[in-house]
Amino acid sequence: RFITFEGGEGVGKSTQAKLLVAALQEQGISCTLTREPGGTEGAEAIRNLLLDGDGFGARAEALLFAAARADHVDRLIRPALERGEWVVCDRFLDSSRAYQGGAGDLGDEAVLRLHEIGSAGLLPDRTLLFTLPSAEAEARLDARDGGISDAIGSRGRDYHAAVASNFARLADEDSTRFATIDASGTPGEVHARVLAALKDLIEA
Ligand code: C5P
Repeated sequence: RFITFEGGEGVGKSTQAKLLVAALQEQGISCTLTREPGGTEGAEAIRNLLLDGDGFGARAEALLFAAARADHVDRLIRPALERGEWVVCDRFLDSSRAYQGGAGDLGDEAVLRLHEIGSAGLLPDRTLLFTLPSAEAEARLDARDGGISDAIGSRGRDYHAAVASNFARLADEDSTRFATIDASGTPGEVHARVLAALKDLIEA
């Protein structure tokens, strides 16, 4: 099974991905935890290029995300799925659709075409979209290393608001693949919602 976690900054995706992997392993399900951009040596190198400064225009940025994903899919995700493992990935294609495609104006079609070329269109079995009111997400980011300004970066609040509404639209359009998770409350409360949203796949 291929599970992806999506949402804006500060919603707790990484914490929840770790909790899920631990819970799956406890049930005897072998499971790989990975993240985007990154996950393989080549893709982590591209991550560093992308996250250091504002070096790229929108299309170059989208191509680099797609290139990183292609390497990640070929070298880590597909082989793990073929071995019968679960793969839990912190961000995937839908981040590119919400960030580069929507908020970055490239358009959804172009991002999907890049994904078809780069990663043969691999889609998750389920995508959990974590949602949190922006004030709450910002309060969490404030407490983090680098604080809120690092997390918002040079793209500004409007860009991040566009990202949040793009994610919501993607989830609305495909309620079979997506489950929306209320990310408020304690990590344990959110974890219980995550398990509930995957119950059918875990028990299958
Ligand atoms: O998930 P994480 O916080 O590690 O993501 C790193 C950064 O990359 C975030 O600031 C996010 O805004 C950005 N990103 C992006 N487009 C993507 C994936 C991540 O701009 N497709």
